[in-house]
Amino acid sequence: MKIVMKFGGTSIADGKRIEQVIDIVHENIRGKNKVILVISALAGVTDNIITAIGKALSGDQEAITRIIEKLKLDHHRLAKEVVKDEVVLDAVLLELNELVEEFKRVIFSVSYLREVTPRSRDNLLSFGEKLSASIICAALKADALKVKWLSGGEAGIVTDDHFGAARPLMNITNQQVKERIGNLLDEGIIPVVTGFIAYTQNDVTTTLGRSGSDYSATILGAALDVNEVWIWKDVDGLMTADPKIEPLAQTIQRISYSEAMEMAYFGATVMHPKALEPVAEKNIPVRVKNAFNLKKPGTLVMEEKLVKLGDAVKSVAMIKDVALITVSGAGMVGTPGVAARVFSILSENHVNILMISQGSSEANISFIVSRESSDRTVNTLEIALLGGDTVKDIISENDVCVVAAVGAGMKGIPGVAARVFKAVADVGVNVRMIAQGSSELNISFVVQEEDSVKAVRALHREFRLDKSEIT
Ligand code: ASP
Ligand code: MG
Repeated sequence: MKIVMKFGGTSIADGKRIEQVIDIVHENIRGKNKVILVISALAGVTDNIITAIGKALSGDQEAITRIIEKLKLDHHRLAKEVVKDEVVLDAVLLELNELVEEFKRVIFSVSYLREVTPRSRDNLLSFGEKLSASIICAALKADALKVKWLSGGEAGIVTDDHFGAARPLMNITNQQVKERIGNLLDEGIIPVVTGFIAYTQNDVTTTLGRSGSDYSATILGAALDVNEVWIWKDVDGLMTADPKIEPLAQTIQRISYSEAMEMAYFGATVMHPKALEPVAEKNIPVRVKNAFNLKKPGTLVMEEKLVKLGDAVKSVAMIKDVALITVSGAGMVGTPGVAARVFSILSENHVNILMISQGSSEANISFIVSRESSDRTVNTLEIALLGGDTVKDIISENDVCVVAAVGAGMKGIPGVAARVFKAVADVGVNVRMIAQGSSELNISFVVQEEDSVKAVRALHREFRLDKSEIT
């Protein structure tokens, strides 16, 4: 079998974890599998780089120096713990120093200018993955394996220049990855590829968006026509609900690509929402496994016809940190184009909308945005819309949450919405706004923040998600 294996930041966080990675690789090699590793930055490193960029923008060079020192120290310490061959260790320490020096030059130039472009930001963010990939590669090499680490761009992943959330250009990517990674595999070399980062067509570094290493793994998997992609995380797999909210939550054993994508969109998994696109097209199964609990089978994401759809709802998600914006005015009734105006203004201002609803009276339009963009959204709309005779009021409510019930089994089955809303009403929760995607893969609604946990648990109970056999 040919397998792409992605290890998240917590799955490589310390010596014990990395030894486990080495064991997993050895076991696969013995079993005559070919593996391609995709590595995330160590846990917290990408966040630290973001903090450093903030400090650079305010010209706080002392703070930057502190962050750089810590970055260097943490990576050195880990390398010393896991690279059990002196020559290899010396070489990797040198490599880490060079990477840190390069990072230092870029971040200091940001601090002199007090300005960061999306392009230089991606350049800075790319160092987290380069540092960790270099350590993993050295650890495997010191354990007598033939390995080579390369950045996502060097591996052949090419994207557009939408820095911060770059999109892969699949034709050229497929061709380059096949050639470059294929050559390494033919020579018996294990490729260790940095997740998250890629190149534009001119070899400028881009990133695929937060949690983008999953996406890197599936892009490589699709390009190489692998048998499976394995995503190692610090949870048992995809769950019927967040276990911190619903202690009875179960691991979902099998789920279709479209259901899993829907869950990712609603934040129910820590997976990049686009990560499943490349593999879904080719029906390459994805296994989500727990690196902290190898015995657990994890979740298998695969084509719908191989998945038991079970009851209508498979998982209940909750999105916190959102705001409900309502645009209203009696003059909106029967006036065409108000909704179009609102949404084009928002799209010009890069405000991402999670949910939309308009009452049939047409006197108002409500929608959900992330809480951090709520002030900006209201201001922008006020400037553009108030003062005429259509829109009279724009308000934002910040103490709300979105709850979403996801499952392909609800497609074409009447009565699911009724069950959802009855269950929520029975626990005394008031629903503020409702939406159902036309894909019929989810029913989502907005409740007061203080009611959200109650709503999630009510649905979990109603659809018997605590009984693992239906998942
Ligand atoms: N290191 C990046 C992030 O934290 C990418 C990833 O972990 O997948 O978002
Ligand atoms: Mg991460």
